[in-house]
Amino acid sequence: MSNENPYAERDIPTVINAVGEQTRISGTLMRKEVSEAMQRASEKYVHLADLQAYAREFITEVTGAEAGLVTNGAAAGLTLSAAACIAGTDYRIANQLPHTDGIPNKILIPVAHRNQYEVAYRVAGAKLVGVGLNDLRNGLEEVEPWEIESAISEDTVAVTYIDRPHNQLSLATVVEVAHDNDLPVIVDAAAELPPTTKLTRYIDTGADLVAFSGGKAIRGPQTTGILAGRKDLVESATLQSLPSGVAEETWENGPPSKLVKTDNLPGMPRHGIGRPMKVGKEELIGLIRALELYIEEDDEELLDDWNARAERIYDKLAESSQLEVIVMEEEDPAAVSTVQVELDGAGITAATLIQRLINENPRIYVDESRMQENTFTINPKCLSDEEADYVCERIDSYIC
Ligand SMILES: *Cc1c(COP(=O)(O)O)cnc(C)c1O
Repeated sequence: MSNENPYAERDIPTVINAVGEQTRISGTLMRKEVSEAMQRASEKYVHLADLQAYAREFITEVTGAEAGLVTNGAAAGLTLSAAACIAGTDYRIANQLPHTDGIPNKILIPVAHRNQYEVAYRVAGAKLVGVGLNDLRNGLEEVEPWEIESAISEDTVAVTYIDRPHNQLSLATVVEVAHDNDLPVIVDAAAELPPTTKLTRYIDTGADLVAFSGGKAIRGPQTTGILAGRKDLVESATLQSLPSGVAEETWENGPPSKLVKTDNLPGMPRHGIGRPMKVGKEELIGLIRALELYIEEDDEELLDDWNARAERIYDKLAESSQLEVIVMEEEDPAAVSTVQVELDGAGITAATLIQRLINENPRIYVDESRMQENTFTINPKCLSDEEADYVCERIDSYIC
């Protein structure tokens, strides 16, 4: 076998990504420098705590947070956030997670922020409690500050927040209510980059823990994420993820002591809830290298590049008189333009076209979120110009 293409060699179809960073079609592509760093990382042994100690300092610099941890995806960052908010510095609680009988474990979530990823909090034993309504008609607010306040009880350990364009509730408001009640705020910022300024924005606004994906905009390994935040909480998350299993003396005086304080531990820590979410040395170095390159990124240049590709796709598809094509410019100037294609009168429905594109080899994935309106969307971010042209040709071949 050659090293040319490990997928083709095994008859595994590859994907042309016209939808944007999505986990199931493998996130983003790492830069060459990242895979090279990972290759070199695989050639030496290293103590994972030494690597995490380096990463912690670097994440601190990049995010402005007090501490940081590399996690197995942003999702593990959310699980460890819940574990940290439930256990805090009480190792006896940490050691029994995810079992939380008789232990405060409720995380408040504005209902308009609810999404599939909340299972990540539940993995640690958290129970989610919705607040407010998902009824945004007639200028109704999704959640009023007093509603959050009145949902707080003895059992509440945190409030969680996600920054989406349709959410009206500001993070500053949530932080104010939560902090007035001595509760931390967890922000799921997995998919919020770019722009790079968001690496610091949530921490600046007062979030106590923020989780980013390493395998989306940062272009690190798909199995990495960053957890940034308050020192005591990140240390709790760290303690619950560090591999253990050595004599107490070696642990206390060895590399882990750079990451967590051992004074208030009742004894040698056992593996915690984070152990099944291990990050390996190759991924740790890959994430660090990717982040080094990401913070040098020129947000405007990148956006101009994507938007030029959206125009290119528009120009190609608009040539077909059967298609109603528009370029959607987002209200948010930092958001990428996408191309929306409506298929009424094109001789094929969006649902059929999307299915056909998926079943080609290579598979082509477009955004199907408007499929019910007989429309599909092309996102230019994860395409090269050549791939963009190829996608347009393939679409055109189905139009009659
Ligand atoms: C992608 C995503 C996650 C999970 O991130 P991973 O790095 O894949 O674990 C969590 N929350 C939201 C909103 C996401 O989009």
